[in-house]
Amino acid sequence: MIMIFYFYCIFVLVLGLCIGSFLNCVIYRLETKKTLKGRSFCPKCKKQLEWYDLVPVFSFLVLGGNCRNCKKKISWQYPIVETLTALIFLLIFSAQGGPASGWNFLSLIFWFYVASVLIVIFIYDFKHYEIPDKVLFPAIAITIIYDIFFSGDIFNFLLGSLIGFLFFFSIFFVSKGKWMGFGDVKFAILMGLLLGVSNTLLALFLAFFFGAIIGVILMIGEKKGLKSEIPFGPFLVSGTLLALLWGPRIINWYLTLFT
Ligand SMILES: [Zn+2]
Repeated sequence: MIMIFYFYCIFVLVLGLCIGSFLNCVIYRLETKKTLKGRSFCPKCKKQLEWYDLVPVFSFLVLGGNCRNCKKKISWQYPIVETLTALIFLLIFSAQGGPASGWNFLSLIFWFYVASVLIVIFIYDFKHYEIPDKVLFPAIAITIIYDIFFSGDIFNFLLGSLIGFLFFFSIFFVSKGKWMGFGDVKFAILMGLLLGVSNTLLALFLAFFFGAIIGVILMIGEKKGLKSEIPFGPFLVSGTLLALLWGPRIINWYLTLFT
């Protein structure tokens, strides 16, 4: 039985690498406002890529991080997103327990989809200080449908969403959009729908905690002054992912500190 589980794990890793490669493509097409149709090509010299240059991570390593045709550098974003997607897929899969423990195939697909959305938002906001509506809005719609059919406690998720929205909207409103972009306000809606009340609070806490640490590090390094902005989306995504994967465990651990 355990052998079969490992076999599934390898399959999930390979699937994650391939989806990660697709996510890089989604990010690039979002950046250039192109559709997803057409073969992959080098963004620098526009030459179409052969299949052997499209193997996730391995092609990057074999080519030494340079395009086969124009020899220009391929962005580190490509292997990083591929590896990250594979690892997060594996974590989601093992958290669900695999086929032997009465898993729900549909909900596994849903969580793979959610992870993909979060990864795209992370990278896009990190690079462009913007959370793309084209990715966020469908995710909100699909998550509402998922909550209705699978969550069992839809009010918990609606309430989480409302709390997240009101929290960020008040920051946005008070600061007139200076401390928080409206993209973050919209993202909080998705966050609550994914996490429910207690995990949303945890994710918010983690996001601000990470944000503060990175902010201080950047200020000490004097790379960013007090006034310059750091995109908050990557912190929100990190908090959301951690709360999704280990939320109850983190909350329990935190509570045992006081008892
Ligand atoms: Zn090239």
